[in-house]
Amino acid sequence: MRKEDEFGFEKVIEVYDQKTGMQGVCVIHNTARGPGKGGIRMEPDVTVEEVMGLARAMTWKNAMADLPFGGAKSGIKADPKKMTPEQKEAHMRAFARKIREVIPGEYIAGPDMNTTEKEMSQFADEVGTPKACTGKPSSEGGLPHELGSTGFGVAICTRVAVKHMGKDLHGMTVAIEGFGNVGTFAMKFLEQWGAKVVAVSDSKGTIYSKDGLKYADLMKIKSEKGTVTAAKGEKLDAAKLFELPVDILIPGARPDVINKGNVANVKAKILSEAANLPAKYDVEQVLMKKGVVVLPDFVANAGGVISSYCETMGWKADAMFKVVEEKISANTKIMLERTKDNDTRKAAMDIAKERVRDAMVMRGWLAK
Ligand code: NAD
Repeated sequence: MRKEDEFGFEKVIEVYDQKTGMQGVCVIHNTARGPGKGGIRMEPDVTVEEVMGLARAMTWKNAMADLPFGGAKSGIKADPKKMTPEQKEAHMRAFARKIREVIPGEYIAGPDMNTTEKEMSQFADEVGTPKACTGKPSSEGGLPHELGSTGFGVAICTRVAVKHMGKDLHGMTVAIEGFGNVGTFAMKFLEQWGAKVVAVSDSKGTIYSKDGLKYADLMKIKSEKGTVTAAKGEKLDAAKLFELPVDILIPGARPDVINKGNVANVKAKILSEAANLPAKYDVEQVLMKKGVVVLPDFVANAGGVISSYCETMGWKADAMFKVVEEKISANTKIMLERTKDNDTRKAAMDIAKERVRDAMVMRGWLAK
């Protein structure tokens, strides 16, 4: 159901292209802090309601990351598995043409499910400016995901939280779900800073070693054998990872992995949410009541959107890593200082809403 409030939605643009049959939607939730920023997903069953929810979430994520961006998101209703590369390109170009008038003043695109740097290159080409989107190939000034901005940000957020708790990351034990883009870089940096990663999972299961796993070994084994479970250690079910006796738990693959069924068995003291929505709010609250420090997804995994901002500024990788570190450190600290009753998500949401409200007041969209 649509739920308009003082923040938005500003525009819901549904488009259809007769020639290609492309059907899409671009939702601009709030632009008080800057152009709405959010990726384009391509899925056969994407709905306007789903894209609206994601656009609203981007408003809070970008505001909490303290970026000059509002919130937006797009969806193209199509099945990329059933399309030729030419058909996929035709859909992207048709979508770009149909929403061109809001770009880049009100909307800046980026990749999301089933869209990559290739589609971003086509999108920018069709609109006629590299400012149309981020996530472009590095040959066009893009800062690719492969640099590891999100995993790096997760590691920074975790390090700041550990310090805030008056503890030392050195020797703390860590379990990481997923060894993809986010999980690998989170492991790399936490290991560099002295943490002991004892468990890592992928779709084949969990590998657990009390003595600690090594990033370089897991990278080698994953590329040779296709799974981290081939590494030396105890092989467990993928789901077992969430119940291990570790200090820091990093869900970094799928949604809802910590739920009513297993939350009572979580033993970690810090939950660093690298994936989107690894636990629903009511489940997070169970952990918060037990004293677990929850680092909410939109705070911990904001490295990707911060990198997108750096791309719009034309900055290179070195500058990007500095900005990710500064912004995630500052925002994590502000959140932890503002937290009452251990409810970090509420503190972060309050900060994000305040920032958006202040920008709206400044523009005269809201009375003080
Ligand atoms: P990815 O595709 O690179 O990696 C996903 C990993 O999860 C793979 O190693 C895969 O083997 C593993 N996996 C799949 N099923 C699993 C299972 N049942 N148990 C354990 N592991 C399993 O994806 P990614 O880019 O690393 O993204 C991971 C999560 O982080 C997603 O929720 C994504 O939305 C979120 N996220 C990613 C970014 C980014 O910049 N990449 C930014 C923000 C949020």
